[in-house]
Order: sequence, then C-alpha cells, then structure tokens
Amino acid sequence: MKDTGALTPAEAFETLLAGNERFVNGHPQHPNQNAVRRAETAPLQNPFAVLFGCSDSRLAAEIIFDRGLGDLFVVRTAGHVLGPEVLGSIEYGVSVLGCPLVVVLGHDSCGAVAATRAALEEGPAPGGYVRDIVERVTPSVLAARAAGLSRPDDIVDEHIRNTVDLLTDRSRVLAEGVAAGRVAVVGLSYRLAEGSARLVADRGLGVPAAAAGAAQEPVRAAGGD
Ligand SMILES: [Zn+2]
Repeated sequence: MKDTGALTPAEAFETLLAGNERFVNGHPQHPNQNAVRRAETAPLQNPFAVLFGCSDSRLAAEIIFDRGLGDLFVVRTAGHVLGPEVLGSIEYGVSVLGCPLVVVLGHDSCGAVAATRAALEEGPAPGGYVRDIVERVTPSVLAARAAGLSRPDDIVDEHIRNTVDLLTDRSRVLAEGVAAGRVAVVGLSYRLAEGSARLVADRGLGVPAAAAGAAQEPVRAAGGD
C-alpha cells in the first residue's frame, strides 16, 4: 500500500476513496492496525486527512474507509455541526499536522437532520443542548426548502454542502489553504446500507464528481430514493 506521508489533496482523496471501495466490496485490508504501526506512530502522527463527520454510530471512520492508526484525524459531532472547538480541531489537523484534505461526512437517515425537520414542521424544539444541534442544522434545512428540495437525501446533501461552505467561510486557515492548492475541503454523502460515499461538494480538489471513484453525480440530478 502506498505511503501516505506527503500526499497532494487529490492523492489523499483517492487514497480515502480506495479504502471505501475495499469496504464496500467486502475486501478490507485493515491497513496500519498492527503493533509495528502502533510503534511507528507513537512518537509522531502524520495523518493524511481530517475527517469531520456525524457522530452516528454507523459512521465509524477507520472502518468505512478501511484505514488504521495514524491515518485519519477525526472530529465528529451529531449532524456534523460546528462551533469554535470543531473549527480549532480541524485547523489543528491542517496547519499543525499538515493534512492536505478535509472531509465533511454526512449520511442518509441522519437523526440530527430528521430532528431539525421535525422541530421546524411540528415543533417544539428539543430541550437541553440537543436544541443547539437542531439550531445549527436549521439553516441547511431552510436553504433546502428554499431551493425546492424535499427528499430526505437531498436535504442531507444540502446540509453537507452548507457545512463545507461554513468551514471555508469561517476558517481563514482553510480558505487560504484551498486558494494556495495545499488543501481541499470536500463533502461526502454516505449511504448506510451500501457503505458507499459520494462526492457532493468540492473546494480545491477539481475532480469532476462523476470521475471520483465510488463518487457519482450529485444526488440533486439523480432520480429515485
Ligand atoms: Zn447523522
């Protein structure tokens, strides 16, 4: 397996998708999960991607992308909502650890998106800090509604795109990295049943969605559900 020491954004993306293909096809290699790798990475980490995903228990990052120790710098919150701690963690992965790729990973049947839709359509908003999650997902659901999107999967994809936009709008580190060609920020939409991830947003990768391995055309153009 290729060394992931100093990948370009496009190479990092290909590496990530290759692992997802192995997982989807039922032929995972479980790389970098042995004692040798553990010893190698103990003094120093050099992950090739920041993975910012939903906390959903079915979205286990190293499993669905068939990676191991020291490969992914993982940040996860319910509904991949972001605040200062999340932005700081992602910026750390890029500016200190040198990750060339930031992935926003959303998925179908996302409970955070469903709870937000329910709060908007039926009310009331949930209590406690869950309310904060719903409030942070709300702009995406409203944007989807304004764009005429009503299928649950389309709303999820809109939330992924909005999260990618938020990252590059709020973080100067990410915006400058993308502008310089050092970093790409992409959005992937994961399907729980198939285990596959599809490209729905791209800042700085320049890969046509249809050519991106397991990725396909944005779902907005696709039929069915
Ligand atoms: Zn979710």
